[in-house]
Amino acid sequence: NDTSSSKVVIIGGGLTGLSAAFYIRKFYREKGLIPQITIVDKDSRLGGKIETLHRDGFVIEKGPDSFLARKTAMIDLAKELEIDHELVSMNPEAKKTYIVHRRELHPMPSGLVLGIPTELGPFLKTGLISLSGKARAMLDFVLPRRKSKEDESLGHFIERRLGAEVLQNVTEPLLAGIYAGDTHHLSLQSTFPQFGELEQQYGSLIKGMMTGKKPVETHTGTKRSAFLTFRQGLQSLVHALVYELSDVDQRLEAQVASISKNDAGGYQVVLASGESLQADDVIVTAPAFAAADLLRPYVDVSALDAINYVSVANVVLAFDRRDLKGLFDGSGFLVPRKEGMSITACTWTGVKWLHTSPDDKMLLRCYVGRSGDEQKVFLSDEALTDLVLQDLHELMNIQAVPLFSEITRLPKSMPQYPVHHLQHIAELRRSIESSLPGLYVTGAAFEGVGLPDCIKQAKEMAQGMANKAYT
Ligand code: FAD
Repeated sequence: NDTSSSKVVIIGGGLTGLSAAFYIRKFYREKGLIPQITIVDKDSRLGGKIETLHRDGFVIEKGPDSFLARKTAMIDLAKELEIDHELVSMNPEAKKTYIVHRRELHPMPSGLVLGIPTELGPFLKTGLISLSGKARAMLDFVLPRRKSKEDESLGHFIERRLGAEVLQNVTEPLLAGIYAGDTHHLSLQSTFPQFGELEQQYGSLIKGMMTGKKPVETHTGTKRSAFLTFRQGLQSLVHALVYELSDVDQRLEAQVASISKNDAGGYQVVLASGESLQADDVIVTAPAFAAADLLRPYVDVSALDAINYVSVANVVLAFDRRDLKGLFDGSGFLVPRKEGMSITACTWTGVKWLHTSPDDKMLLRCYVGRSGDEQKVFLSDEALTDLVLQDLHELMNIQAVPLFSEITRLPKSMPQYPVHHLQHIAELRRSIESSLPGLYVTGAAFEGVGLPDCIKQAKEMAQGMANKAYT
């Protein structure tokens, strides 16, 4: 078996697919193997959800805008690509975040970590929760641990430990924001497994979070910051990967229509154009619904069908600073579901990320759409901008006319990991391994939606493939 020329086809050229190509090449080379890699993407550009726009001196992210520094896979990759000097931290002066309560902005009480109080003083003083809601949260110190080790929904867990009010007013807007989701349909074990572990270990979530609270680790030369991005936007990472992978066959506007087994014990990847690519190994990084269609003829794909995708839009508005009288002493605000507003979250991008806007200008980035409330995403540009401006007027008294707006709709873009997701994915992978050896599925639909999670999954998969190819 001549593995030195093994052919690998990667379906999807988002961050997962690009990092898979990067690490397969690296790990195979370390073992003296030279794989022939092809990346196919249906889009006309690589990067998937990542897309940066440069306009009038602004750096505008149309998809993700930053990543968690604590998860080191991104920083490691940036170092390997020699672009780590481009990393920038969020403005340390913009730590404060607001949460809307009864249509007013309230500062998030200090000590809230992932929406869980770790300092009792500020929590007991906040206007975001009623007295009875606070008393209910304190029951977390005495309520017994859950006996079952089965997965449960994130919403059910928080409600069980801290009560419905803390969930609705504080925790859900913070945590569900990451998934644009409904916490009652998100798996605890696939999203915040540490919460369940702390309950088991300490018998109390608050106590566990208080004990486990560690200062943010520092990495490389970057300042202490929970979030990082690249000075010219996240697209820098995509550019660096594409450049580094110039010897990899990169096929754009190439939608994969089907995968079938070939006579050589490998696969035939058939494109919508009718062209077929032969492969020894195939990596599917497309969203779950697209991966499901490709695998349905061979394995039970109910684990993929169970992952609902939510549509969101982000409306970026640029303003002249002198037209804004509002208060911008933080990174933005979150809007709980029950407030019934159009905006689900607003980042004061020009303050949070100083490199994104000229000094005399301001960039605001407003999200619209969440699980169960997605229709507004598809309104006309004008109608959508009007709704966002109405909310900004009500919450921040912004009356100015924006210099421009950039709207990005991301239909079916936010995967919702259902309860028992991990177990179902493990079963799916087992059945793929036995019926479709040499075929792999990975990406945002599997073990984490964050950019570093996508890189980590791709890297681990590449390492496993290289080990297999060598033996
Ligand atoms: P994708 O980027 O979706 O790439 C999959 C690729 O597959 C696409 O390019 C698609 O064209 C291609 N494809 C699909 N079907 C086919 C087919 N049949 N044939 C060929 N190609 C196909 N994460 C963070 O860490 N920080 C953030 O700030 C953040 N913000 C976000 C904001 C938004 C609005 C969204 C939607 C996500 C955000 N995320 C964030 C999550 C993160 O951006 C994604 O999880 C990640 O980019 C997904 O990468 P991926 O490669 O797995 O998938």
